[in-house]
Amino acid sequence: MRRPLLAGNWKMHTNVLEAYLLVAEIGKCSVGLNDRDVLLAPPYTALHSVANVLHDSDILVASQNVCWEEKGAFTGEISPTMVKAAGGTAAIIGHSERRQIFHEDDEMINKRLLGALKFGLMPLFCIGETLEEREAEKTFAVLEGQIRRGLAGVSPEDMKKTVVAYEPVWAIGTGKTASKEQAQEVHAFIRNLLAEMYEKAIADSVRILYGGSVKPDNVDELMAQADIDGALVGGAALDPESFCRIINFT
Ligand code: PEP
Repeated sequence: MRRPLLAGNWKMHTNVLEAYLLVAEIGKCSVGLNDRDVLLAPPYTALHSVANVLHDSDILVASQNVCWEEKGAFTGEISPTMVKAAGGTAAIIGHSERRQIFHEDDEMINKRLLGALKFGLMPLFCIGETLEEREAEKTFAVLEGQIRRGLAGVSPEDMKKTVVAYEPVWAIGTGKTASKEQAQEVHAFIRNLLAEMYEKAIADSVRILYGGSVKPDNVDELMAQADIDGALVGGAALDPESFCRIINFT
């Protein structure tokens, strides 16, 4: 079966010292969680120190984005090999804040995803519809487009290493969570689409995370859904007590 994955995206929060204090707290409450994966995505400046603190732990470290090139004239970017050298093994790609604020399109996200895979990082590939798109009943069409374009050229072998994160834009940082039924419906749609694009066995092995105002009081019911394999958490990942409760979902 699919191993649950609980991921915390710290976004542009925490300086090096704050990151150190936060990871120390999370490290304590993750001891003994052998049946699930926990992942932290600190800002780039704290990636190395967070990975160092976690050296003897099973907690994974991810970057919040990644370039497709290994090195070169790409001011402001971080390369997959830099992430790995800093202790990271994964990268968030296509987060809605990258799409909306920084205008990253599906083609660029696809390049980032292929770059991450080429250099051995596990991509957390984010997709999600806006409120306007949901209200216009375009949710499935929007997601299908994001998935087909974002995964263009991803081989079946690489698909097995990829994590998908469904994050409805209207639920990110808003306190509005998709209901468990809404989330499950979309997760099942994503899995069926992956089965069509690859094969059922691959679709059944891919972890699909839900993201959008996941909190201690809704994590259990979300995680109980058949096609929800984990959570990508923003705001609540910055509060050790909340994140500890989330990773200890029952
Ligand atoms: C996110 O940024 O991926 C996210 C889901 O944020 P929040 O949990 O704050 O809604």
